Amino acid sequence: MFKSVLTIIFVVVVLLLVRAVMQRFKLESNKTSSVSNNSNQDTVQCLQCKTYIPNEDAIFRGDKAFCSTQHLHDWKQNN
Ligand SMILES: [Zn+2]
Repeated sequence: MFKSVLTIIFVVVVLLLVRAVMQRFKLESNKTSSVSNNSNQDTVQCLQCKTYIPNEDAIFRGDKAFCSTQHLHDWKQNN
């Protein structure tokens, strides 16, 4: 009984250590690479079709974003 509890504690500690190391690697790779790798912050919504697209693929007109020039034209015609 006591041995199995020790085994479980050992496994948990190892898992926590692995997770800590992984997170450290992740943080370091985020620092070195550009901000555009952060997918949560760098997507914009197309005003026409409401699709979320990466910032770098979006077409901007002022503060408005579009997934394609086609949708930019569509939106212009409707507004
Ligand atoms: Zn669109």
